[in-house]
Amino acid sequence: RANAQKFEFQAEVSRLMDIIINSLYSNKDIFLRELISNASDALDKIRFLALTDKEVLGEGDDAKLEIQIKLDKEKKILSIRDRGIGMTKEDLIKNLGTIAKSGTSAFVEKMQTSGDLNLIGQFGVGFYSVYLVADYVEVISKHNDDKQYVWESKADGAFAVSEDEWNEPLGRGTEIRLHLRDEAQEYLDEYKLKDLVKKYSEFINFPINLWASKEVDEEVPADEDESSDDEETSESKSSEEGEEDDAEKEEDEKKPKTKTIKKTTYEWELLNDMKAIWLRNPKEVTDEEYTKFYHSLSKDFGDEKPLTWSHFSAEGDVEFKAVLFVPPKAPHDLYESYYNSNKSNLKLYVRRVFISDEFDELLPKYLNFLKGLVDSDTLPLNVSREMLQQHSSLKTIKKKLIRKALDMIRKLAEEDPDESNDKDKKDIEESSDSNEKKGQYAKFWNEFGKSIKLGIIEDATNRNRLAKLLRFETSTSDGKLTSLDQYISRMKSGQKDIFYITGTSKEQLEKSPFLERLKKKNYEVIFFTDPVDEYLMQYLMDYEDKKFQNVSKEGLKLGKDSKDKELKESFKELTKWWKGALASENVDDVKISNRLADSPCVVVTSKYGWSSNMERIMQSQTL
Ligand code: ADP
Ligand code: MG
Repeated sequence: RANAQKFEFQAEVSRLMDIIINSLYSNKDIFLRELISNASDALDKIRFLALTDKEVLGEGDDAKLEIQIKLDKEKKILSIRDRGIGMTKEDLIKNLGTIAKSGTSAFVEKMQTSGDLNLIGQFGVGFYSVYLVADYVEVISKHNDDKQYVWESKADGAFAVSEDEWNEPLGRGTEIRLHLRDEAQEYLDEYKLKDLVKKYSEFINFPINLWASKEVDEEVPADEDESSDDEETSESKSSEEGEEDDAEKEEDEKKPKTKTIKKTTYEWELLNDMKAIWLRNPKEVTDEEYTKFYHSLSKDFGDEKPLTWSHFSAEGDVEFKAVLFVPPKAPHDLYESYYNSNKSNLKLYVRRVFISDEFDELLPKYLNFLKGLVDSDTLPLNVSREMLQQHSSLKTIKKKLIRKALDMIRKLAEEDPDESNDKDKKDIEESSDSNEKKGQYAKFWNEFGKSIKLGIIEDATNRNRLAKLLRFETSTSDGKLTSLDQYISRMKSGQKDIFYITGTSKEQLEKSPFLERLKKKNYEVIFFTDPVDEYLMQYLMDYEDKKFQNVSKEGLKLGKDSKDKELKESFKELTKWWKGALASENVDDVKISNRLADSPCVVVTSKYGWSSNMERIMQSQTL
C-alpha cells in the first residue's frame, strides 16, 4: 500500500509472536476470548468517558455500545468489530507492536517451560493470540481524536500502518480482520462460533451479535406438480384434523397457488444475555458459575478453582454489592513490587458501569492478592475518577470489604477439617464437602501467609483478627502448622506468656540452647523463621491478654525455682567479676538464670533491643 509506514516489532514481542505462530498448543479457541475481552475493555473506556461528556458517543449506530462478529466464507475472514474507544495511529503503533508490556518477557519465559498459552491474557499480551489461527491480520481503527487507520501484519517481524482510504468508515471503534490459516477454517463455521462466543462471553456486559444465517419460509408462486405434493402432505395429517383440512383446501382454491420454500437470509443474532452475576441472589448462583466468573475476571484460565469466595451486599448509608475471590495461587510478582505499587485487583463499577480496575482506595495493600468486583449505587456516576477517588463513601466501602475479606479467610480455616484440634476432629463428619475443604487453609497459608503478616504490621485496627489467621510451626507441633488459639489451648497451667523464638530455619532453632530448659519442662515454643517475622513481632505485642516472650531475650520467666535465690547468692562474686571483665559497652548485665539445662551460659539480648536474628537481617540488608 502506497501510504503505508513500516515498523518492526519490539524484540520480545517478535519472539512472542514466533512462539505463538509455531505453537502446537491445541486450544486455539482462546484467541476469540482475548478479542472479545479487548473489545469489551474498549467499550468500557468509551462508556466511562461518556459519563462526563455525552458527545463522545456520537449518534445513531455509533452510540450503540456493542460487539459484532462476521464470517466471510469466501474470503476466509473472521472479523470482530466493536464500537469502543478505538485507537489513534499512535495507539496502534505503540499498543500493537513497539511497546512491550511488562509481562511480555515473563510470558515468553513461561512459554518456554510450560507452553500453556491459556494464561496469555494474564500477562497483558492476549492480542497476539490471533496468530494461533490467522497468518495475516488487519486492525482497522477509528478514535475520536484521529482519522481512520489500518494496522496490518503477517507476523514476519514487521507491521505496517496506513491511513485508511479504502474501507468503509467505522464511525468509531475497531474492527479486527483475521485471514484464517488453512488449518483454522473451522472458525468460519457459524455453529462453532456461536458455541465459542457463548462460552467466552458469559460475563461480558455488552451485547455480542453474530451476522448469522437464518432459514425463513417464503411463499412463492407454485407450479402444478408441486401443488399436488402439497396436497399429499396435508392428507397424511391425522384424521381428527380432517375437517379443518377440507376448509383450508377450499380456501386454497380461491387464492392463487403458492408454495413455501426455505430461504437463507442473514441477520444479527444476539448471543449473550449480559446478566451480571453479582446482582443475582447468591443462593441462586452455583459454584461452577462462581468459578467461571473468577476465571474471566482474573484472566486466570488455569483449571484451578479459587480457594474461596464471598458474595454479599451492603446496605445502609452506602450501598454496594461485591464478590471477592481468593485465587488458587499467588501471582509471580505479588511481593516483588509490594512497596512501590498499590494496584488492587478489584474492579469498581458504579451502577453497573465499569469505572476502573486500578482503584487503590478500595483495599489496603496487604489484601491486594484478592480478586473481585465492587458495584456501588451510592457513588456518583458523573464525576471524574479523581473526584471519585476522594468520595467519602469509599472509606465505608473499604472498611466493610476488609471485614468481609477477613471473615471469608477465617471461614476457610474453620471449614477445613485439617485445621481443627485433634479433640474436635471426631465431630466433623467425613462428608464430601469437608473432604473438598481439607488442606485448603494450609494452601492459603502457603500462598498468602506473608500478606497476613504484613497486615498485622500495617493494620492496627484489624490486628487481632489477622493474628487469628496466623499459622506457624512450634517446638512440639511435629512439622504441622498451628494457630495462636491452638497454642493457647495447650499452654501449661501457670504459663503466662506465649513463647517464641526467631531464626533462619526450624533445624537451626531446634538446636538452640535457648530451648534446652523449655523443652525439658515441656513448654511449647513458636518458631518464626521468615525474615518478616522479626518485624511482625515488633507489632504483635499480645494476643488474648497473653504477652509474647522471645525466649532469646531478657525477661523469660519459667516459674520460680526454690534454689534460685541460693544460687544467686553463691555466685554473686563471680557474676560481679564477670560483668567487670567484659567490656561494658557490649554487655549490659550478667545474671544467674534458670533458662538453660546443659549449656553453661548464653548471650541474651535485652528486652527492647533487637534479637540476634534481627541483627543478622539488618546486616544483610545494609550489605
Ligand atoms: P491487554 O488487553 O491485557 O492490555 P492485549 O494484548 O489484549 O493486552 O491488548 C493490547 C492493547 O491493545 C490493549 O491494552 C489496548 O490498548 C489495545 N487494544 C487491543 N484491542 C483493542 C480494541 N478492540 N480497541 C481498542 N484498543 C485495543
Ligand atoms: Mg486483552
